[in-house]
Amino acid sequence: MASNITNSAPVKVLIVGGSYGGLAAALNLQDLCHGQAPRGGPTVEKDHHDDVEKARIPLDITIVDERDGFFHLIGSPLAFASEEYAEKAWIKYEDIPALRSPGIRTLHGSVQSIDPQRKVATFVARGMGLQTSELQYDYLVAAAGLRRVWPVVPQSLRRKQYIFETSEHIRAASTGRHGVVVVGGGAVGIEMAAELKLVEPSLKVTLVHSRDRLLSAEPLPDELKDKSLELLLEANVDTLLCHRLDSTEEITDDSGNKCFRIRFTNGHTMMADYVIMAVSRSVPSTSFLPKDALDAEGYVRIQSSLEFPADAANSADHFAIGDLVRWSGIKRCGGAMHMGYLAANNIHQRIQERRTPGMKPEFKNLDEIPPMIGLAVGKKAVSYWPQSGVSSGEDVMKLFFGDDLGFTICWNHLRLGGDKVVQI
Ligand SMILES: Cc1cc2nc3c(=O)[nH]c(=O)nc-3n(C[C@H](O)[C@H](O)[C@H](O)COP(=O)(O)OP(=O)(O)OC[C@H]3O[C@@H](n4cnc5c(N)ncnc54)[C@H](O)[C@@H]3O)c2cc1C
Repeated sequence: MASNITNSAPVKVLIVGGSYGGLAAALNLQDLCHGQAPRGGPTVEKDHHDDVEKARIPLDITIVDERDGFFHLIGSPLAFASEEYAEKAWIKYEDIPALRSPGIRTLHGSVQSIDPQRKVATFVARGMGLQTSELQYDYLVAAAGLRRVWPVVPQSLRRKQYIFETSEHIRAASTGRHGVVVVGGGAVGIEMAAELKLVEPSLKVTLVHSRDRLLSAEPLPDELKDKSLELLLEANVDTLLCHRLDSTEEITDDSGNKCFRIRFTNGHTMMADYVIMAVSRSVPSTSFLPKDALDAEGYVRIQSSLEFPADAANSADHFAIGDLVRWSGIKRCGGAMHMGYLAANNIHQRIQERRTPGMKPEFKNLDEIPPMIGLAVGKKAVSYWPQSGVSSGEDVMKLFFGDDLGFTICWNHLRLGGDKVVQI
């Protein structure tokens, strides 16, 4: 398809999803088009940014998100345990200094479909019912992540509503005398149980898991899984392995209070004031994308350049990043931000290719990602990195998560505060 990009018209980039991946793509692209070293690039590249094309390219970036702000998803277990932290973990887009740029606008709403031939997306603004409008683009970045169930992530789409949702959850989880049962010993269940116990030490918290090892679905070494259990017990979270949930039934206890009776398939029963289901049922948020770009499970079949598969329409103008792509490795925010940086670089190359006859684009490709993880378990963290193996302790917590479950680390990495870097 012929390009409609001229050297003076702003290049229209539509980013669906304003979380780690989407914001990284927007801000790195803006850096490159302003002739600056991209914020997500390696330090050596930043030191030699004279190589970066200096000519400014006018940009018109639109970030669409169903939420009215950036939610630090990694902090979700703590946002559901601490009201103070919940306040910090969701920042409305209008309050993010880095997005206050004439070339970037954010829209609160949902992209319902795209037409890759016409390069047009159908958009529904939040609160506008079925009323749709069209957003035209030169390049699209799909960064819509996974659709996760409650209470893995808050379901509210406005900050105000989210504060209410998290407070309600905290109140419900911290009252009563039978305690809280978290079902599912994957990363989310472990973190949720540990954060609840950390914030409310007097609360009885039990984590139940159907298999004989935590994190049983992850391709990670047993040493990491065993260390996670050790840290969980150290954090005073009761842990029941080999307990598969059979049913939960709402009952009234001897004191006349409502609570739950939980039955397991091995015959064991227990009471809880509150049951948190942390079994993962996350599906890629890709229903707005053409089927020919997706695999059978709905993940985008990206090329290593982050472009849509070569057999999809206009694949060179469509990129996908973050949790919704089919790629190796455990889904991580670091991976999503890195992909955002790579996509920004490759879009910048495509723009230059179209503006400069004879120019050959130099793409940065996504390498295969080995399994790796950093897991916060109360005051300590455990990590597995292929180069360094398993490590754990308070120092690992500091390194991977700082003092706020990684909020400041991500904020600084994306430079969301503009040039101001927050000290950890
Ligand atoms: C509880 C929990 C703990 C985690 N802990 C860690 C950790 O310690 N370390 C780590 O590295 N990773 C962790 N992760 C994983 C990490 O959060 C994800 O890898 C990361 O969020 C992926 O970022 P993303 O930008 O691809 O998508 P997401 O963060 O999922 O964001 C997608 C965005 O797209 C928006 N959206 C979706 N569909 C549409 C649409 N049609 N139109 C408009 N907007 C749309 C959503 O509102 C959302 O804001 C954790 C995840 C969870 C759930």
